[in-house]
Amino acid sequence: MSENKFSQTSSFLIDMTKCTGCRGCQVACKQWNELRAENTKFFDGEGYQNPPAMSEYTFTRIKFRDYQRHGQNEFAFYKEMCMHCNEPACASVCPVTAFYKTEEGPVVYRPERCIGCRFCMIACPFGVPKYEWSKGLPLVRKCTGCYSRVKEGLWPACATTCPTAITYGTRDEMLAEAERRLARNPERYINKVYGKEDAGGTCVLYLSNLPFDELGFKPVTFRPLPEYTWDALRYVPGAFLTVGGGLSALAWITHRRERLKKEQEVAPLEETSKEPKEDQE
Ligand code: SF4
Ligand code: SF4
Ligand code: SF4
Repeated sequence: MSENKFSQTSSFLIDMTKCTGCRGCQVACKQWNELRAENTKFFDGEGYQNPPAMSEYTFTRIKFRDYQRHGQNEFAFYKEMCMHCNEPACASVCPVTAFYKTEEGPVVYRPERCIGCRFCMIACPFGVPKYEWSKGLPLVRKCTGCYSRVKEGLWPACATTCPTAITYGTRDEMLAEAERRLARNPERYINKVYGKEDAGGTCVLYLSNLPFDELGFKPVTFRPLPEYTWDALRYVPGAFLTVGGGLSALAWITHRRERLKKEQEVAPLEETSKEPKEDQE
């Protein structure tokens, strides 16, 4: 696929040198997607970020990295979210096309198609898709790119809320803006636009003043990831669907057992609580 195919797709430019760590984006995402809050603690061992990881209830979060410069303690912030890859690995391995790349840019998920095989979770190099383990009929959840807003010509909720660090526009515009900032302030930035070619190019682009690996960005290939996933998976189509179906069935049986166990625990209590009423009649 040619790079030009993605030049007009909607994209984020996240300038981490301008991020204040206010986490307005996190809150806006929760509000727009009606996601519940999660228990947090001040220091989870990995850093100061809260919640400690992305989850089915947290589609984006700000990661903190503390470091020293000129003898001073400094903080760097990194907004973690789905990268809305140009050629998404999650979509390439999904046997029922529950994940797909929209013309507008966001990579979205159709729950009605999902069979629960969770190959998307294994394939994504950024660890983005999460599974609703706690639910009887679990789905995969992740950042939607605010597709419903983008379709109406609006910016995503997180980008709208951010006071400083997030710019939104076509991929070409965001790349040009990133290159302009690098040229204007070379001493301010690492000379790289993360996402320009990484993972075959993404619709979330980053600028940083720290090396990306120090911020926790995983090194990924420049080659579009579906080329790798299909290299491996095309040889095992039968196993692909069988394992997927098997995992779905296992998850369903496990949750059903848990539900039945809970119902059995509740049933004697209900019977006991009825006894006095019967006595009163
Ligand atoms: S970051 Fe992961 S979940 Fe998001 S589009 Fe890319 S492969 Fe899919
Ligand atoms: S694009 Fe929408 S769903 Fe994704 S992180 Fe931003 S607010 Fe959340
Ligand atoms: S809203 Fe903007 S400035 Fe605030 S934490 Fe998010 S990305 Fe950083």
